[in-house]
Amino acid sequence: MTLPAFRLERPARLADAVRILVAHGPEAMIIAGGTDVVPNLQMKLFSPRVVVDLKPLRELAGIEFTPASGLRIGAMTTLTAIMQSSLVRSKFPVLASAVGTIAGPLQRNMGTLGGNLCLETRCRWYNQSQFWRNALGGCLKLEGDVCHVAPAGKFCWAAWSGDAAPALLALDAEIEITGPAGARRMPLGDFYTNDGMSRIALARGEMVTAIHVPPRMAGRRGVYHKLRIRNSIDYPLAGVAVTMDADAQGVCREARVAVSAVNPAPLLVKEAGELLTGRRPSAELMEEIAHAAISTGKPLTTSASTPVYRREMLKLFTRRALEELWQNGRA
Ligand SMILES: Cc1cc2nc3c(=O)[nH]c(=O)nc-3n(C[C@H](O)[C@H](O)[C@H](O)COP(=O)(O)OP(=O)(O)OC[C@H]3O[C@@H](n4cnc5c(N)ncnc54)[C@H](O)[C@@H]3O)c2cc1C
Repeated sequence: MTLPAFRLERPARLADAVRILVAHGPEAMIIAGGTDVVPNLQMKLFSPRVVVDLKPLRELAGIEFTPASGLRIGAMTTLTAIMQSSLVRSKFPVLASAVGTIAGPLQRNMGTLGGNLCLETRCRWYNQSQFWRNALGGCLKLEGDVCHVAPAGKFCWAAWSGDAAPALLALDAEIEITGPAGARRMPLGDFYTNDGMSRIALARGEMVTAIHVPPRMAGRRGVYHKLRIRNSIDYPLAGVAVTMDADAQGVCREARVAVSAVNPAPLLVKEAGELLTGRRPSAELMEEIAHAAISTGKPLTTSASTPVYRREMLKLFTRRALEELWQNGRA
């Protein structure tokens, strides 16, 4: 489990980082906190010639909020800083709720939001040592030509296994990407390709520099529920984030539901927003939304728990989150 040989670049300016990434293309790999990259390098899941360390770029860290422009969190902001931010906790509770479930304190102290949003997809047939993978003959994602999850197909189902992305989808966030042509923003949902092999839409030389949440989401109630093997330090096996704005009578004005760890991308449950708007809480409505969640979230045998159990948990979490938000709203 040693690291492969590579050259480490530590650019002092964003423009230098972009230049290095452009020059080396697919042979370069970004490292932020390293909490996902380093174990993956040790398992020889990739072997970049150049590793670009973003830590010297201090301008990429920080949390800012103004009522006019909303929330901006720099890509190099640590998960601990987000979790401990009184601003995030009070105005964007779904994000604090999700980030607080990520790994353990050590990973949250080192791990960054940018790294979390760009995680490698995970699969039980892929996240293994080289020795283990060789015994199997590899898989479609690496060193092989068969997907062990769906052997008849030529598609990689490795699961998106991050916790911050569903919360940010539920906050209607945009991602800021910087590359040789400058900075651009896109809806976070468009950043994910839903393909386990090429999970995110970054072109050569580009990196994530920040995430933006619109001002209308400030103060929006929200919660994240997560299934994991141990109740600490584990990647999600299923996750549901819900945000809701309801009036004093409990009528939903706007809601968003997003699921994670059950598809190759974190996904918004599109029907949920339409079904919930203008409605009051009822057992039938919550059941309808729970079914919408499992028509979007499609767990397969990528993870340590069965697809059937993970589907049931998606339903349970969705119902539970809606109940919580409606109750809190009327308290
Ligand atoms: C034991 C353990 C448990 C974990 N549990 C969880 C968990 O419960 N939930 C969870 O979500 N994660 C979990 N993780 C993964 C990880 O700790 C977090 O996701 C963390 O936020 C990753 O951030 P990082 O800065 O360390 O990313 P890195 O490891 O540095 O990078 C991760 C990926 O993102 C890319 N990248 C990093 N920054 C950028 C950028 N600015 N622009 C473009 N690409 C970039 C890297 O090239 C790499 O592909 C766990 C990790 C470990 C080791």
